[in-house]
Amino acid sequence: MAAIELEDVTFGYGEQPVVESVSLDVAAGEFLGLVGPNGSGKTTLLRLVIGLETPDSGAVRLFGDPAHEFADGERIGYVPQDVTSAKNQMPVTVEEVVRMGRYPHRWIGGFSDEDRRSVRAAIERVGIGDLADRRVGRLSGGQRQRVFIARALAGEADLLALDEPTVGVDAESREAFYRLLHELNDEGLTIVLIEHDIGVVTTHASEIACLNRTLFFHGDPDAFVETDALANAYGGGQRVVHHDH
Ligand code: ADP
Repeated sequence: MAAIELEDVTFGYGEQPVVESVSLDVAAGEFLGLVGPNGSGKTTLLRLVIGLETPDSGAVRLFGDPAHEFADGERIGYVPQDVTSAKNQMPVTVEEVVRMGRYPHRWIGGFSDEDRRSVRAAIERVGIGDLADRRVGRLSGGQRQRVFIARALAGEADLLALDEPTVGVDAESREAFYRLLHELNDEGLTIVLIEHDIGVVTTHASEIACLNRTLFFHGDPDAFVETDALANAYGGGQRVVHHDH
């Protein structure tokens, strides 16, 4: 089953498209690494995928339904770029953030025992059980990412979308973080991740999409390394779309 289907998607904030004619299918259970130069439209494409932006033309479907129907967040975990930023001083605790994942599941009148169990299990699952009462603003960047992943798990998300989650995170935490992503992916969670480090993303992802406004490549990480899609996308050379299926 396709988790993500983009059909000739074009989107711009103004007159100029920043994402143009992108068609891309990702099967459920894949781990897609999204790469491209700065300003190439990666964050915009991710926001289109999870229904936070609506295409000017073309269509986006998630698990067979229009993406905007998922924008309320029930089946999507989104870890935006700035959660690791020290400027992000959220005065809420880890548990309070993770509870937000339960909102779409909650009965009127408060949290059930099942909600509480699910929140607790999600916090333990990402390895921050001892930090449940800590304010998120007092956590390291790596710990904050785990809070947002726990929120997605508590919400029983089918798709996890992460925007450069390991920027500003030390190498050891980054490895641990990718190990966690692999475990979750092995358990069936579909993952889409923007990563600027090509070496890291081609090691960990099961598929690569390379974007610079248009799609330059989609397929196997090994094939990506061997093609000149990367040089073309970054250097603005001749564009050859390579679909490796
Ligand atoms: P990337 O994630 O690859 O760095 P973005 O998707 O963030 O690229 O941005 C693509 C282009 O769209 C850039 O030129 C950026 O300046 C522009 N852009 C991004 N967000 C907005 C916005 N909210 N309003 C107007 N322009 C934007």
